[in-house]
Amino acid sequence: MTTLAAPTHLRENPFRIAQDQLDRVAEAFAIDQNLVNVLRQCKKAVVVSIPVVMDDGLIRTFDGYRVTHNIARGPSKGGIRYHPDVTLDEVKSLAMWMTWKCALMNIPFGGAKGGVVCDPKRLSQAELQKMTRRYTSEIINEIGPEKDIPAPDVGTDPAVMAWIFDTYSMNKGHSVLGVVTGKPLNVGGSLGRLEATSRGALYCIREALRKQSRPMADTAFAIQGFGNVGSFLAKFLAEEGARVVAVSDSRGGVYDANGLDVSAVLAHKQETGSLEGLRGVDSVTNEELLLVDCDVLAPCALEQVITSDNADRIKAKIICEGANGPTTPAADDILEDRGVLVLPDILANAGGVVVSYFEWVQGLQEYFWKENEVNARLNDIMTRAFNETWHTYEQRGTSMRLSAYGIAVQRVAEATMTRGLYP
Ligand code: GLU
Repeated sequence: MTTLAAPTHLRENPFRIAQDQLDRVAEAFAIDQNLVNVLRQCKKAVVVSIPVVMDDGLIRTFDGYRVTHNIARGPSKGGIRYHPDVTLDEVKSLAMWMTWKCALMNIPFGGAKGGVVCDPKRLSQAELQKMTRRYTSEIINEIGPEKDIPAPDVGTDPAVMAWIFDTYSMNKGHSVLGVVTGKPLNVGGSLGRLEATSRGALYCIREALRKQSRPMADTAFAIQGFGNVGSFLAKFLAEEGARVVAVSDSRGGVYDANGLDVSAVLAHKQETGSLEGLRGVDSVTNEELLLVDCDVLAPCALEQVITSDNADRIKAKIICEGANGPTTPAADDILEDRGVLVLPDILANAGGVVVSYFEWVQGLQEYFWKENEVNARLNDIMTRAFNETWHTYEQRGTSMRLSAYGIAVQRVAEATMTRGLYP
């Protein structure tokens, strides 16, 4: 019997894409090929099997991964994804992007990522908790505050982080706040962490609009993805007076050319768990959302949604990558030719890991900051990284993506050179 491969959002191998991007950067920035050979690979990949007694009494086994790409600039950092399409190569690509993201932000971390192949929406809270605790036990020797620090990603949230924190701490015999970030506030989380990715994207968008002398109030946004990143971004943009014309979740979206009432959309999603059934708006599919008439398109869901199939039909003049890897390299070329400004993932969605860094520091010091302090420091780091990237973009004429990756890869390469290769 032949088994058909399950449909997946990954049409191209994401790790190959990440490696190709690195090769492009290395060529544009003349980075030593010997170093590139090191950076093209992940330092360590752990594959685990996670048996869980399900609510019906049957045992199901889930596949889990934790990958460290690089630790030249500090302990590795990166989220854990719960999604049915997770693959080892996807996790490797996400780990590599974390290395570049932390380097671009100039925070003292390397890059990592984890993932479990599962559909968290179809697991009960009890099953989710058991799976998370067993996964944590299986990778317990890999993680730690000086070693590798997980955080939320697609399909995981502060509750999952609390279970990871607790499982690790129970095994150590004391609370270890620095082992994971994105924790709930009542167990050592940081104020501002939940909203941080979206707030960082907002700061980035503000800078980009400022460079183009375009007021926020005249700008129309379409946002794909209504999870943590997309929903807070829509909220913040509406608060700034922008016109949010379209938003979507995994099942589809809503559109209103005059601007959605974002608080009504948020309330509807909160109440019904879906965007369907909202009155006074048009429905759009996720594919249609990418092509609606707007000034800024923010893909905030999964990878590979902007491809060579649709890049020439995108109407937005700015793309703000709230997700990791939403644009394929072929689409990138098309967008660049068309003069679309792409604010790349490692810049646009870095707010999350920046505030994760703040949470880690606060946890190590057992001293917690006020929310406006967190946000002001986030703004400093995001604005500086944006302007460094913009400077390279103007000076060298390279795209914002190539510029951001160039700065990041050079920093990691320099740290590797300074440390020297062991032994
Ligand atoms: N998963 C998020 C990302 O892709 C956050 C990672 C973190 O906070 O460590 O950047």
